[in-house]
Amino acid sequence: NREIHLAARPHGWPTAENFRLVETAVPEPGPGQLLVRNRYMSVDPYMRGRMDDVKSYAPPFALDAPLDGGAIGEVVAGDVDGFAPGDLVLHGLGWREYALVGAASARKVNPDLAPVTAYLGVLGMIGLTAYAGLLDVARMQPGETVFVSAAAGAVGSLVGQIAKLRGAARVVGSAGSPAKVERLRALGFDAAFDYHDGPVRDSLKAAAPEGIDVYFDNVGGDHLEAAISALRPHGRVAICGMIAQYNAATPPAAPRNLALVIGKRLTLRGFLVGDHGDLRDEFVREMAGWLREGRVAYDETVVDGIENAPEAFLGLLRGENLGKMLVRL
Ligand code: NDP
Repeated sequence: NREIHLAARPHGWPTAENFRLVETAVPEPGPGQLLVRNRYMSVDPYMRGRMDDVKSYAPPFALDAPLDGGAIGEVVAGDVDGFAPGDLVLHGLGWREYALVGAASARKVNPDLAPVTAYLGVLGMIGLTAYAGLLDVARMQPGETVFVSAAAGAVGSLVGQIAKLRGAARVVGSAGSPAKVERLRALGFDAAFDYHDGPVRDSLKAAAPEGIDVYFDNVGGDHLEAAISALRPHGRVAICGMIAQYNAATPPAAPRNLALVIGKRLTLRGFLVGDHGDLRDEFVREMAGWLREGRVAYDETVVDGIENAPEAFLGLLRGENLGKMLVRL
């Protein structure tokens, strides 16, 4: 069994030295436990926050212990009612080849309904984040103009597509390369721009000259500032993530134009997907239908091998992924 430990806490951008590949014996399942051979694991931006020793909504990773996170694997042993060898389960102990999973925290997934990776992305936590953030938190209405950042990423690409399917008049996305911008147009975004091409504020103004009603924020910083300027009265912002500052040694000052929220009566609302479990059934039903009808497309970037998981995570922070970044074990 090989697993990835946190070797040291990063200051600023993490590097390969913050991780260590460790070999251990394959564990034996005890009562109520399943031994799971992981097949895919997720790397996610929020894991960067867990590398720091600070109090947050998710506990920090421990030093010299395996990291954790979403994974899909196959049950290979364990005597637990309701599970059998060969079952595929979704659980929270990624970053290792073999996981000892308490049966209560394992959820069986059906590989006949969707490719198993979908349960780590479009049909799982990622899809629900997009759905709940856009419809429940930002309360997008048909006919509105929506802007989403990190739009070629896992969450962002779904936000844009869901917005169109739910009747948005115009959907604008920003991303970090010409290829990603091209992909956004193919996914049905009405306008897309590369945020390296000039001030976000200017690019957003050109893409949405009449302004925007909803901003789905994955990035923070200059994207949030530009959105505040572009928002129309009573506009809403769902603050999902602020990846532009996850690696900053000193976080940037707040948007310089924050006072505009007063006159425009804006709502800026942070959210955590974990609080929106009540929407899960409705979300899965609607998303599964869109997938079946070919109305939603999703991209995946897959890196092979547990030994390359740190590099996959670092690549995610650098924007090397199109859609969901996954590691195949
Ligand atoms: P993505 O697939 O979007 O990957 C992250 C992307 O962020 C990269 O591909 C990169 O794309 C972009 N990025 C990195 N640095 C910057 C920067 N400085 N400025 C602009 N873009 C940058 O990840 P996810 O879809 O998993 O997550 C998207 C966001 O949602 C993250 O902020 C994450 O923390 C948040 N999140 C929040 C949840 C919640 O419950 N609130 C749940 C899940 C995710 P590019 O090439 O375009 O720069």
